[in-house]
Amino acid sequence: MKTFKNFIGGKWQDPASSEYFENRNPANCDDVIGQFPLSDQRDVDCAVQSAKRGFEIWRRTPAPARGDVLRQVGDILAKRKEEIADLMTREMGKPLLETRGDVQEGIDTAYYAASEGRRLFGRTVPSELRNKWAMSFRRPIGVAGLITPFNFPMAIPTWKSFPALACGNAVILKPAEDVPHTATALVEVLLEAGLPPDVIQLVHGQGESAGKALVEHHEVPVISFTGSTETGRIVGETCGRMHKRLSLEMGGKNAMIVFDDADLDLALDGVLWGAFGTTGQRCTATSRLVIQDGVHDELLSRLVERVRTLKLGDGRAKGTDVGPLINEPAVKKVEQYVDIGVSEGADLLIGGRRATGKGLDKGHFFEPTIFARVEHGMRVEQEEIFGPVLSVIRVSSVDEAFAINNGVKYGLSSSVYTRDVNVAFRAQLELDNGITYINAPTIGAEAHLPFGGVKQTGNGHREGGWEVYEFYSETKVGYIDFSGQLQRAQIDNYLGTPD
Ligand code: NAD
Repeated sequence: MKTFKNFIGGKWQDPASSEYFENRNPANCDDVIGQFPLSDQRDVDCAVQSAKRGFEIWRRTPAPARGDVLRQVGDILAKRKEEIADLMTREMGKPLLETRGDVQEGIDTAYYAASEGRRLFGRTVPSELRNKWAMSFRRPIGVAGLITPFNFPMAIPTWKSFPALACGNAVILKPAEDVPHTATALVEVLLEAGLPPDVIQLVHGQGESAGKALVEHHEVPVISFTGSTETGRIVGETCGRMHKRLSLEMGGKNAMIVFDDADLDLALDGVLWGAFGTTGQRCTATSRLVIQDGVHDELLSRLVERVRTLKLGDGRAKGTDVGPLINEPAVKKVEQYVDIGVSEGADLLIGGRRATGKGLDKGHFFEPTIFARVEHGMRVEQEEIFGPVLSVIRVSSVDEAFAINNGVKYGLSSSVYTRDVNVAFRAQLELDNGITYINAPTIGAEAHLPFGGVKQTGNGHREGGWEVYEFYSETKVGYIDFSGQLQRAQIDNYLGTPD
């Protein structure tokens, strides 16, 4: 079996524990990808000391030169796109079409970050005093600890690491334990592009050991976390206590709303992609379908017919629409939610079981599942399931639909299908989400726009676009007084007192 290593202190290293965990293909558990380090606090300590050395080099490297390295990263990712997509599908399960998109997101993020190296704007502002210069500019912060989930094995680590690096920070990446191979490929690419080795550290292992040690390390002032709201709460408590800068991107319970005037063909394609793409394991997955009375029955029956035709299988096989769930606990969790939905009185229209036969027995496959007659407040309507389960809710008005969208603790993404421009604009203003799509499903973020959610999905920061650069840098203000005399802000007044 192939043994993979951490990247710490400028070299590929075994973990201090000498222990490893296995990484298996979720579409075929007999297929072992390799074993990866089970790291702990000792590895994190070494990574932090190395990253501190890296920071001293990197923060002094001109930002445009940092950007040049990231441009190289984009070029190498583009060259390796097909190979990385293939290894990502093997360890994560989603079809190649999707893993190619995941790598493409990394490429787009690299080129954006490269160009940001020539911006990182500050401001020059008039001083209230004479012969005095006032400006703001951006400084890197230090060592950034990045903790990432399994569902976007390349895109999310790049959303975090590329802006962090462009701003001049050193990075320690702790990827999700189900997708360590893709993270390894990312670090290889960064090194090949010429990043000084101490600037990047890769620490594999479990959240409760390696992740926790990173969050609790007193020399890591910045933590960026993407994962479940439950884990985010734990991370947030520690960071609050330790006064760390923290970005949280967490769960979702996203609704697609289809009104009577919608283009139903479009809505049908949208909900299939939104609900069952990535096997429902997207933070932006469509997990609630809110349909207005007039089109409810027609859309639902057409949807069930289309779901019947979805082909489950290995994401690397031709014609696969839906891959496996990530692991056995995920299958168990989805099974439990199916039981909950049934016991709550929802109508199980299709699916609801582990998928078997036709080569699926060795993987974590689950049938695409639809619950109808779901009432607002049921657990299958309120809680993140993170699997191929869609809850359908019937409504009679725009107000009712909007209230249902807003009536959950999450606030990531929403989508409205309508031809009424007034309803479309109302949705933008009234839906409590970080993202609202009109006539498109709840998924499909673009790398150059801010990404994130409100309420218990996030803590006010955004990934992507221009906003994330604020998170990874400190604003500093510089005043230069060239008057040669003491001038007192707020006290001296030059109005009517010429030189
Ligand atoms: P998870 O919370 O189980 O794990 C996320 C990461 O946190 C992993 O690397 C894990 O090892 C680590 N971790 C676990 N316990 C930890 C601890 N005590 N201290 C530090 N780190 C710890 O999430 P997951 O199952 O990998 O991903 C699915 C979740 O991620 C879903 O809730 C999904 O909605 C969310 N997600 C959100 C976004 C977003 O941008 N809002 C994007 C993708 C996924």
